[in-house]
Amino acid sequence: MIKVVVQGVAGRMGSLMGRLVLEEDDMALVGATERPGHIGVGKDVGEVLGVGKVGVEVKEDIREAAREGDVVVAFTTPQATLEAARACGELGKGMVVGTTGFTEGQLEEFKRAVSEVPCVLSPNFSVGVNLLFKVAQEVAEVLKGYDVEIIEAHHRFKKDAPSGTAKRLAEAVLRGLGRELRVVHGREGLVGERGEEIGIHAVRAGDIVGEHVVMFGGMGERIELVHRASSREAFARGALRAIRFVAKAGPGMYDMWDVLGLR
Ligand code: NAP
Repeated sequence: MIKVVVQGVAGRMGSLMGRLVLEEDDMALVGATERPGHIGVGKDVGEVLGVGKVGVEVKEDIREAAREGDVVVAFTTPQATLEAARACGELGKGMVVGTTGFTEGQLEEFKRAVSEVPCVLSPNFSVGVNLLFKVAQEVAEVLKGYDVEIIEAHHRFKKDAPSGTAKRLAEAVLRGLGRELRVVHGREGLVGERGEEIGIHAVRAGDIVGEHVVMFGGMGERIELVHRASSREAFARGALRAIRFVAKAGPGMYDMWDVLGLR
């Protein structure tokens, strides 16, 4: 049994992770947290998830909750994830992290905190998107002179922009092109002709779960690679695979390419 602790268990991803972990035969939900002051703190996590009591209390202290588990899952805020990382580093617990929107400084601090434990960090846990990273890189290797634009669309509640996935797609394209390019976030006004750059555009509307388009524009043709997530389950199912991976892995920073054997 892999003992799993979910931080932010009332959140959109946290609640889905909590419910799926409860359904898995080889996993047990042994701990859960929410933001201090959250209405769910002190309640049974099963009640918060709407599945009836399971005998695990939602705590506000991640350190206390993490003590019970093997792997801590975080789809929360950068600040909360940093707290979890410090706790996991000190307690020797593995981590699966989907939180996006870290500043460079926060990311460095995060990596330092979990340097002695196994950790899968991915801006997108969907199997399809991780394949898209690979395909985008391979297409860029061939279409070297083409203009690349990345368009991402998410629900109106998403807090950071552009998406972590869009940033990773830009990195994959740059690796494929084999050179550095300026990244332009949207365009406005008299910007002049397109230069040597990658454009990233963030759409926010309604309940869009997550869409990414990588457009390669040449003279007389255009290729578009498109991924559409129709439900958060795509991310949550990938995160379950990451939990199993972390439970067996040695200390180190991994991503979904390691989990899926795509490297
Ligand atoms: P959400 O619904 O806002 O969930 C975040 C949860 O964390 C909320 O319940 C929030 O509580 C809680 N939280 C905040 N501070 C906390 C703390 N100190 N301790 C415990 N819990 C705390 O957001 P979401 O849509 O699930 O997304 C969460 C993160 O995952 C975002 O960064 C998003 O971009 C990312 N994400 C990644 C993937 C992926 O595949 N990697 C997929 C989807 C989303 P309050 O609402 O009360 O503040």
